Formats: sequence, C-alpha cells, structure tokens
Amino acid sequence: MKFALVNAQRVEAHPGGRGMCPNCNGEVIAKCGAHRVSHWAHRGVRDCDSWAEKETEWHRAWKNKFPADWQEIIQYDGQSGEKHIADVRTPHGLVIEFQHSHLDPLERTKRERFYGNMIWIVDGTRLQRDYPRFNKGKDDFRRTPINGYFLLTFPDQCFPTMWLESSIPVIFDFRGLDESRAPDPFRDGLWCLLPGRAEGSAVVVGMSREQFLQVAPSRPRLIAVQEYLDGLTQWIRGTRAAPRFPGIPGGGWPRRRFKRF
Ligand SMILES: [Zn+2]
Repeated sequence: MKFALVNAQRVEAHPGGRGMCPNCNGEVIAKCGAHRVSHWAHRGVRDCDSWAEKETEWHRAWKNKFPADWQEIIQYDGQSGEKHIADVRTPHGLVIEFQHSHLDPLERTKRERFYGNMIWIVDGTRLQRDYPRFNKGKDDFRRTPINGYFLLTFPDQCFPTMWLESSIPVIFDFRGLDESRAPDPFRDGLWCLLPGRAEGSAVVVGMSREQFLQVAPSRPRLIAVQEYLDGLTQWIRGTRAAPRFPGIPGGGWPRRRFKRF
C-alpha cells in the first residue's frame, strides 16, 4: 500500500511511520528499505486485501501518473460486502489495475466481474519471451480503416495466454521502466488487446503513452469496444462482399467513418 491513514490523513510510508489501514482499520507499519518501494505493511503477515500483490517500482511509477486521490480507492460490493482496493479509479469511475505477476484466468475473471468498468495494464517486461513474441507477432497485424486499430488472426502468437480471453481491454506495456533503450515506436507505445473478436479476428489498438494518459481520465470507458467490434465486423464483411477495384483506396466500397481512439 502506498497510503495509510495517519491522523485521518492519507500519508505515504516514511521511515518509522505507523498508521492505520484504510481498508480494515488494522495497524500498518512503514517499510522503507533499499530493495523495495516504500510501502505500508500490516502488522500481521497477511494483507487484508487478498488481491493485493507485492508492489514493484513499475506499479508505483504507473500509479504516480495519476493524481494521489485517484490511487488506492476502496471498492465495495453492496450485496456481498466484498471490498478491494483498486489501484486507480478515475472520477468517471474507470478502474485501472496494474498487473505484474501471473494471474490465474479464473482469478482474473473474478476481478473483472467485481470492478466492472475496468482495464488492465500488464507489465510486458516480466518474462523475457513476452516482447520478442509480440515483436514477431505484430508483423501479422492487418490494417483497418481506423487509424491505430489492427486485426490479428492468431493473438496467441502475440500475447500471453492468460490475457487472451479477458472480458475487458488489456493494455501491454513492453517498455516498462527502462527508458535507457533507444527509442522504438513499437516498444514505447502501449498495445491494447480488445475483448471479443471481429469475424474471428482479435482487435489490437496501438496508442502512445501520452494519448493514453490524456484519454483515460477524460471519459467513463477508455474505448467503446462493442461499437468498434460491430464497425469492424461490418467492414470485414464488406471487404469480402465488395468487388475489388484496383487502384481505388479501400477497394471501392464506402468507408464508414470512425472516431479515432
Ligand atoms: Zn488492512
């Protein structure tokens, strides 16, 4: 946890600090060592939120891109009484969860159901094979009439299996914290795998970090997924049905106009 309550204020961990967990009211102690990001830990061994994971520099750097009072927001399920701490929740109600560790798909589904309107941002630097697989897989991206939107027949050859059946957008961050690498438009961008398929193809959306940080806080849903899937489905069907007119951009069938991401 980045924040605990000290005298009813949300405070970051500092050497020798003691505070109260905003989720369970239990006592927490500041841990400020050289090997881990400064955080608050429960006095007992276990965290009260079973979904909490060890916070990495990567988590912290992402959280810090959002205002402090959007970070670590407790979400309640009024019916079951279940509560969990969302990494970030924007004023429009969009929950952003940053995932570094492996997550069992069943567990992933539970969290998606609980938070409802959410997106994942996945640390694509955790496993060595993740970026090389993406880098090779992206050669199979097919362009669409929408700038930045691509179709992909075999998403399993591009992204980790555990994220393929997600019911919400999953954004891969393949650059992570390492800013020492030479600029690389593919690695530096963010790649979002949309849920669902358009005529059997996965839809991948490429965006810059700046674009993401500008758009995510500004509206309830990051991407109107169903509208894009429907639009792309129609477009794919159109490309199959329409006669080809060589030399005419788009093949000669009327293009639908889409708002860009
Ligand atoms: Zn607690």
